[in-house]
Amino acid sequence: MKIKDLFETMEYGPAPENRDAADQWLDARQREFQLFINGEWAPPVSGKYFDTINPANKEFLARIAEGGPDDVGRAVAAARQALPHWAALSGHARARYLYALARQIQKHSRLFAVLESLDNGKPIRETRDIDIPLVARHFYHHAGWAQLRDTELAGYREVGVVGQIIPWNFPLLMLAWKIAPALAMGNTVVLKPAEYTPLTALLFAEICRSAGLPPGVVNVVTGAGETGAALTKHEGVDKIAFTGSTEVGRIIRKATAGSGKKLSLELGGKSPFIVFEDSDLDSVVEGVVDAIWFNQGQVCCAGSRLLAQESVAEKLYAKIRARMEKLRVGDPLDKSIDIGAIVAPVQLHTIEELVRKGVDEGVRLWQPSWACPAEGYFYPPTLFTEVSPAHVIAQEEIFGPVLVAMTFRTPAEAVQLANNTRYGLAASIWTDNINLALDIAPQVKAGTVWINCTNVFDAASGFGGYRESGFGREGGKEGLYEYVKQTEEDAFPDKPVVLKKAKPKAGKAG
Ligand code: NAP
Ligand code: MG
Repeated sequence: MKIKDLFETMEYGPAPENRDAADQWLDARQREFQLFINGEWAPPVSGKYFDTINPANKEFLARIAEGGPDDVGRAVAAARQALPHWAALSGHARARYLYALARQIQKHSRLFAVLESLDNGKPIRETRDIDIPLVARHFYHHAGWAQLRDTELAGYREVGVVGQIIPWNFPLLMLAWKIAPALAMGNTVVLKPAEYTPLTALLFAEICRSAGLPPGVVNVVTGAGETGAALTKHEGVDKIAFTGSTEVGRIIRKATAGSGKKLSLELGGKSPFIVFEDSDLDSVVEGVVDAIWFNQGQVCCAGSRLLAQESVAEKLYAKIRARMEKLRVGDPLDKSIDIGAIVAPVQLHTIEELVRKGVDEGVRLWQPSWACPAEGYFYPPTLFTEVSPAHVIAQEEIFGPVLVAMTFRTPAEAVQLANNTRYGLAASIWTDNINLALDIAPQVKAGTVWINCTNVFDAASGFGGYRESGFGREGGKEGLYEYVKQTEEDAFPDKPVVLKKAKPKAGKAG
């Protein structure tokens, strides 16, 4: 038998990652978590808690404190109190803490990976090989920047107390993108994780303690949208850094307008994945898998709009369908799973509704022949072809494993289609002709453009959007500017100075 035929016929049995350590960690804390304020665990003033579950089987994982405005107030006060000491440390001293956090993350990487998969539903292969290594890399990278701040960013200083609000799709990675640069630049932090996925942020809080981080430098206030709103509104916060939906980003921009708070917004996307006729189509298919089926398609920069050159479109669709038929959806802890669970029933419902809209608009839908597991929140990989730019599914961010395909004839048409969106986060261009790729790339309005690859990230490379995908960058030197202000600003107080007319002195004429 040829090797190729052997692979075709081979059946893979389940290979679940052992979850004992994660269960022991949860049990040791009686599956109940308080707020992390000033280096201590504190119960919420309201006494309210909510549950976090495993979306792959709906099992209860833990009870989580719901922080209210008073708790946010306590956390902001702790961050304010910790600020002068933290900001006055030398860059080298701050770097030592960041290196310690990075090493602790690496030391506990398996626990982090399993916990993230349990809480979010994403495949262990991804948390183990992508999320957690990138988190460690982010802390190492920013440890370097802490040491370099005073020379590389001379004339700049920390912003102050930073409120950070993050989504559930990459819980620990988004935490790292926020906390690492903030601490490196001398700020203190109050972080609000997403309601669906608070667990790895709480493990991270424990690690802050074991790394000896001074109390109050990092505070974690768990809760829902209202907790985030309370943080946004709090007068003691100097900057808000938000990652999440465009809708909530809009609310936050309004809430912070006129308050003097610095703001950065990392929002949604509907990124084009452009395939020219000369591309290696088999590589393209693997690129498509990474673009839209990585993390169940719950990726802000997912290549969710496939733009294929007309001459190769049908051939490409056939190859993609064949690949989709072989994708495996199931238990996120199974190491040979490609697609895990959708984070929550609300999200699953949104995906189903948008797919229904596509079908109602008469768009051609294709899904594999097999069924998803029935016990959790799963959705199969889905391909829509013969989509037109005006269709709802071509414009709305579906945030699930759903790919919509359109065709183009000329490079100019490809650019036009790519830019026919209110977002501008990322794009991916596939061609064997590097001159064509380099010609197209700057014409696509997107924060990141990948050529013959997709979803490639590094701590040294800034990431962020245009238009309704937000503003500000995370990662690289450009990302640091979100967490510093020019020292000259101190010379200009926030409140306008009212110049009074000098009174003429008595006894002197005119
Ligand atoms: P979301 O609903 O906007 O929530 C994001 C965070 O904001 C959560 O912690 C949420 O709390 C909180 N929140 C909700 N309402 C709030 C309010 N009124 N004021 C302050 N905070 C509030 O987004 P999501 O559904 O979690 O995440 C998916 C979205 O994030 C997608 O649109 C995706 O494209 C985007 N995203 C963007 C990037 C990027 O870098 N550009 C990266 C990842 C994700 P609860 O969780 O408790 O509701
Ligand atoms: Mg959960």
